[in-house]
Amino acid sequence: MTSSFSNLLLAEPLARAVAEMGYETMTPIQEQAIPVVLSGQDVMGAAQTGTGKTAAFSLPLLQRMLKHENASTSPARHPVRALVLLPTRELADQVAQQIKLYAKYTNLRSTVVFGGIDMKPQTLELKKGVEVLVATPGRLLDHIEAKNAVLNQVEYVVLDEADRMLDIGFLPDLQRILSYLPKQRTTLLFSATFSPEIKRLAGSYLQNPVTIEVARPNETASTVEQHFYSVGDDDKRRALKQIVRQRGITQAFVFVNSKLGCARLARSLERDGLRTSALHGDKSQDERLKSLAAFKAGEVDLLVCTDVAARGLDIKDVPAVFNFDIPFNAEDYVHRIGRTGRAGASGLAVSFASGGNDARLVADIEKLIKKKIELEPVEFEEDRPRGRINDGRRHWREEGEAGDARDVLDQPRERRDVDSRRGSGGRPHRAPAAPRDPFFDKPYEPGQPDATPAWEAAAKSATPARGISSNIKPKRKVAALFKSAEPS
Ligand code: AMP
Repeated sequence: MTSSFSNLLLAEPLARAVAEMGYETMTPIQEQAIPVVLSGQDVMGAAQTGTGKTAAFSLPLLQRMLKHENASTSPARHPVRALVLLPTRELADQVAQQIKLYAKYTNLRSTVVFGGIDMKPQTLELKKGVEVLVATPGRLLDHIEAKNAVLNQVEYVVLDEADRMLDIGFLPDLQRILSYLPKQRTTLLFSATFSPEIKRLAGSYLQNPVTIEVARPNETASTVEQHFYSVGDDDKRRALKQIVRQRGITQAFVFVNSKLGCARLARSLERDGLRTSALHGDKSQDERLKSLAAFKAGEVDLLVCTDVAARGLDIKDVPAVFNFDIPFNAEDYVHRIGRTGRAGASGLAVSFASGGNDARLVADIEKLIKKKIELEPVEFEEDRPRGRINDGRRHWREEGEAGDARDVLDQPRERRDVDSRRGSGGRPHRAPAAPRDPFFDKPYEPGQPDATPAWEAAAKSATPARGISSNIKPKRKVAALFKSAEPS
């Protein structure tokens, strides 16, 4: 049973802000976490992105901080009392924006600091005094060292997307930051999964936490229709365009595994006449925020992105997510497709599996989500008359106008980017011929949880990609790839 915000006895300024945002009933994480946080206990929460987790921790924290609220202009009257740590700049920005909205009718101040942009404006904000500080770990340490951020009055700490912070390699930074904080405090940790590393982190920094799990970790939303297509590297772009047309998709995330691949694919799709933008760690912070804003405003149809850049972004109502590359880390599959089908809306997740190592990666996903994955063939519309399929779309270029010749001449080289990083040459792979157009004409059928994944057998018999040992763990590989450049 879900309960209404009006039962919560939120203070009037918070209740007004929540009502203004149109929230009526609490989401499951809110229902469970808010009373626990209000009671002052530590929390270890597992919740998928898009579950309303930001409000679940920020509303009760703001409520508890209201006793310190004051209208004084003196910075000393506004010490940092709540610290929210997140792995990426975009996510930090997004959470900070939400907190500002929840706190808008209070005198509690908040700000955000993250890397990639000038420290000076952030320093000015910090010096004015803020009760809630949202930050990425690296930039926060810079501000601590510069004595811009003083954390000796912090009462509440939130470690959000903690699993990703560890994946990125932020553990030493987190340990340093936590060493600056008073021992007497409330600590909330949110993570998509409770890996042994996360449990160790919680064991070191949380005191008798209440564990809250609203959906089984690693569970994919039931509102997302998932399809896996067998398609050669050379045909992926064409398949993507065809699906977009056939399904009348208005906006989508397109995930790729490498920054280089991301930039290249975005350029080729743009040349194909699709309004496309790229989001990856090599873009300047300004460019990244502009890309996001353009996507949110509907000025861009396809946001081609890497995992770290897109992690946790709250962009509502994205009808589809494409996995142009199968993620190296199965957990990223769950995060990627969590971008669609949010808040009960239906969504579509399409993944392209080519040869080589993809069989093993898909088998990993199958095990993680405990659903049988059927690999479907693709039939291209070679024979259909040229012309626009989706009449509702204004800007998808007419088929044959420029796309087909380029499909042959100007192939994206995303797989090769990835393969070259992993020491392989990358081989083109043709999709098996399909007997008929199979696109989305059958509903997704969940498999038996304990059945041996169909992909397992394929993975065993498949020739491993050159230079890749089957013992290499994709997760470590990804963490290493992103470690230096992606996070702030
Ligand atoms: P989050 O998981 O915190 O990123 O939230 C995902 C989205 O759900 C955000 O856009 C929130 O504004 C929205 N949201 C959070 N709580 C509620 C609620 N109780 N009712 C409706 N929308 C909500």
